[in-house]
Amino acid sequence: MAKSRRRLSTSSSRRRLPAGAAAPRTVVLRAPTRAADLVRAGQLVAFPTETVYGLGALAQDAAAIGRLFRAKGRPSDNPLIVHIADREQLPTVVRRVPAAAAALMAAFWPGPLTLVLPRARAIPDAVTAGLDSVGVRLPNHPVALAFLRAVAAPVAAPSANRSGRPSPTRWQDVLADLDGRIAGVLRGAPSQVGLESTVVDCRGRTPVVLRPGAITLEQLRTVVAGVRPYAPRAGGAARSPGLRHRHYAPNAQVVLVDDLRRVPADATAGGIGRRAPVAPEQFGRIRTCRSVAAYARAVFAFFRACDAAGLRTVYCERVPDVGLGAALMDRLRRAAAR
Ligand code: AMP
Ligand code: MG
Repeated sequence: MAKSRRRLSTSSSRRRLPAGAAAPRTVVLRAPTRAADLVRAGQLVAFPTETVYGLGALAQDAAAIGRLFRAKGRPSDNPLIVHIADREQLPTVVRRVPAAAAALMAAFWPGPLTLVLPRARAIPDAVTAGLDSVGVRLPNHPVALAFLRAVAAPVAAPSANRSGRPSPTRWQDVLADLDGRIAGVLRGAPSQVGLESTVVDCRGRTPVVLRPGAITLEQLRTVVAGVRPYAPRAGGAARSPGLRHRHYAPNAQVVLVDDLRRVPADATAGGIGRRAPVAPEQFGRIRTCRSVAAYARAVFAFFRACDAAGLRTVYCERVPDVGLGAALMDRLRRAAAR
């Protein structure tokens, strides 16, 4: 183990410990097989995916899953998504694949789509928060797939952030939240999508989108015409327990605006959106995004940068609530809710 504590030269200066300090370190890994060895030994390892970085543990190992919830400070009623490397692993995770789910898998896997299906017995209660269903995803990312293939068993993986913080889209963000609390982080490029997967409940007659993501409602409907967005009934139980929890928020207050050009200059504020304010240099930090996709990719790292700079407010421009914009607006509304 001592040998594996070796750090990369690129990250060693920022992460040097004060003399005499003996805090456990998190190893920065480049080899998916090495990350897989740690996970197979019951450890927690973060890994890149196309959505955000995930924090992986063996799905069938209840003790490892317990450690995962503790490392994140995640409420135990918030179920985890199980990640697989190929369709052959499905029977270990789910009991049954309804026709609509099979059609969605064929169209969008590998990809940023999680399907909620009846849970197989091999998946412990801790993974699903005691639910009889399980969320399962086959990611579209070469490093994630190499890692999952090397583990050769389903891997439960929520986003690799401390609970309540914005999801990490860069390996450095994982360390900022979890250094010393997890065995390793598998180093990769920044996440291409930047928002968590679309979650679709496929157990009923018509699939229901529980969480919008990069696979849009419009795309899902080209495959299964009846797919509908989730509309919570007053007093009804939430179908996706995790959606009750506060998410995605920086410490700064998030304020949604229609047009950044109309926001008065403020050195204690950041701003992100499609347009630039009139005097960007008079803000603490400004990010202008060429597209909704670029905005989605940048938003969580921007939240973290604003917190690191000690800014008090983050102005976020609204985008049209369609396509990927619906997923981005979902995250922005949650971040703005206090
Ligand atoms: P995270 O991995 O942090 O993006 O969170 C995963 C989210 O997926 C949870 O917060 C839930 O909203 C959703 N999810 C996972 N498993 C289930 C399930 N069995 N039923 C409903 N929603 C689920
Ligand atoms: Mg999360």
